[in-house]
Amino acid sequence: MKVVGRFAPSPSGRMHLGNLLCALLAWLDARGRGGRFILRIEDLDPDRCSQSRAEQLVDDLRWLGLDWDEGGLEHDYCQSNRGVSYQWAFERLRELGLVYPCYCTRAERLAASAPHAREGAPVYSGRCARLSQTEREMMEQAGRAPAWRVRVPDETVVVEDGHLGCYIQNLKRDCGDFIIRRSDGVWAYQLAVVADDALMGVTHVVRGSDLLSSTPRQEWLHQMLGYKPPRYFHLPLLTDLTGRRLSKRDRDLDMGALRARYTPMELTGLLAWYAGLSDCPKSAEPAQLIPLFSWAKVPKNNVIVGCP
Ligand code: GLU
Repeated sequence: MKVVGRFAPSPSGRMHLGNLLCALLAWLDARGRGGRFILRIEDLDPDRCSQSRAEQLVDDLRWLGLDWDEGGLEHDYCQSNRGVSYQWAFERLRELGLVYPCYCTRAERLAASAPHAREGAPVYSGRCARLSQTEREMMEQAGRAPAWRVRVPDETVVVEDGHLGCYIQNLKRDCGDFIIRRSDGVWAYQLAVVADDALMGVTHVVRGSDLLSSTPRQEWLHQMLGYKPPRYFHLPLLTDLTGRRLSKRDRDLDMGALRARYTPMELTGLLAWYAGLSDCPKSAEPAQLIPLFSWAKVPKNNVIVGCP
């Protein structure tokens, strides 16, 4: 099988150590299997993403010493230019009778959420799935622009994560009908990521474990669209001393501060140490880590990085 890996960051802020760890491990996983590597820019949200942030991101990855065979700032690898593919996936789901308009406001959505939401994410009750044609027309006449949801079955999906093992979710109970297009027309991450991974031939997805709970619905979407889902590998998140995961808001751990403090090889060595590939932070180039990389060495629980 031809292996294709990818790193798919959102240019919504400067990358932090956790994003870099993900980039490095995705690259090592693909290169270690002799595969190709894609950099896809997930700039769907025009309010949060910008071209200058995408340029910065590409520059930061190159600085670290990573390379890719396809993508980067190329037109067809930026999600903001890929609406035709998402529209096509949307239509296929619509033909299957799985798509319906949802007129709920955010407040109504929360109020209409089932109480047994998992991991803090509300499970939508399916209220708008039950609207009659007349009720829909009334909403349209009142000027309500709908978001679009996909109707999930009462089905249990078992994901065999390549690193974390078995992860099980009942789509109806634990996830609920989810949004694939926002009411302002912006395509939702869940649909875009599936269409892109499928159309780009991605076979191996490496990403942070905050996305593990999205994986069952993504596997299901792949199947609904007639694709074979990729293999998924979720890696631990990096946290500060209080256990709070790093976010793009933690400016002291972002690439600006890291580039001022470390050389690329020092930073790569630090990441390799967090990933369990070495006993102590030792300067290294990404390519030198390929023979050392194995998922068996990578911790499964979140890693505290304190103030590196
Ligand atoms: N764009 C997402 C992020 O930056 C990652 C999506 C994915 O890897 O599936 O968090």
